[in-house]
Amino acid sequence: MTHEGRPGATVPRAAGTLAVAGLAGLAARFTRARAAADRDWAGRVESRLTGIGEVAEVTILPLVERLTIGEAGHSRLRGEAGLSYLVKAGETSILFDTGLNLRGDERSPLVENADVLRVDLTALDGVVVSHLHPDHVGGLRMARRRTFGLSPAPLEPRGLPAYVPTEMTHDRADVVPISGPRVIAPGVAVLPPLPAVVFLGPVAEQAMVVNVRGFGLVVLTGCGHPPMERILGVTEQVLDVPIRAVVGGLHLPVHPWGTPFVPQAVLGNPHWPWQPIGERDAADVIEQIGARGPRVVALSGHDSTPWTFDAFRQAFGDGYRTMRVGSELRISAA
Ligand SMILES: [Zn+2]
Ligand SMILES: [Zn+2]
Repeated sequence: MTHEGRPGATVPRAAGTLAVAGLAGLAARFTRARAAADRDWAGRVESRLTGIGEVAEVTILPLVERLTIGEAGHSRLRGEAGLSYLVKAGETSILFDTGLNLRGDERSPLVENADVLRVDLTALDGVVVSHLHPDHVGGLRMARRRTFGLSPAPLEPRGLPAYVPTEMTHDRADVVPISGPRVIAPGVAVLPPLPAVVFLGPVAEQAMVVNVRGFGLVVLTGCGHPPMERILGVTEQVLDVPIRAVVGGLHLPVHPWGTPFVPQAVLGNPHWPWQPIGERDAADVIEQIGARGPRVVALSGHDSTPWTFDAFRQAFGDGYRTMRVGSELRISAA
């Protein structure tokens, strides 16, 4: 028996049909985009990268992270759910991502933290943007304008090289779009941007690698949206140096309830909305990284939770570290 003959049932039924059609359309688009991303990633891998060179040591100082070393007396350091790391590889200083600055403050958390930590942001040799999401390019307005910024008032010196994974512009910096692996300084390279699909839509993300003499490769990731097996697989296809460290965001906001500032749990979800990022995802990533025998695994708190920190600490023991503003990670053969 149906309700078809009943007067008045037509309007709600039409609205219901429209809503279902709308959801089905969204679902179809998500499925198509995800299938395309799965198909395309292999095509992004070009020939091997030769002549990357090496450095004796790399230091990675988080300038923007959700967690800070505030407890240790630097209460002026600000934490926020974005990412920006100062990477010193040999003689080269590179800023990897430019934070979130959620409130659009004239003095961004990046600028304030750099001041407290006595980092001169005008003395950079380059900027690498991992991907065009607000928590990595300096905020929502920057992302909407398809640009990046250390702060709303531009600080970037004119001609500063900026390596970006997708179409972006900048008023002052010299924007270099990356489509394949590229050496950007002695011992430092960016990898081909890999496509990923999350709730926010499709995104291309590039990783940065530093080749440390006698140690191996240090892989830096922003959010880690492309599956870890792809990020590591591409690194191995492009470079003939073992991966010994993975540092940055791996996008594992597992059990985010009660953890403040992890909007990434919803906005960056690669699954269907009713399937949150969970323990299985974390186990997969741990397995992928663990298979490489890493000596250092350092996780960003901007897209992870205390549950994730514990899981990684258990898996990697003394080699594990949680990234915090103001706590420098130093890697060398010694
Ligand atoms: Zn992120
Ligand atoms: Zn992201």
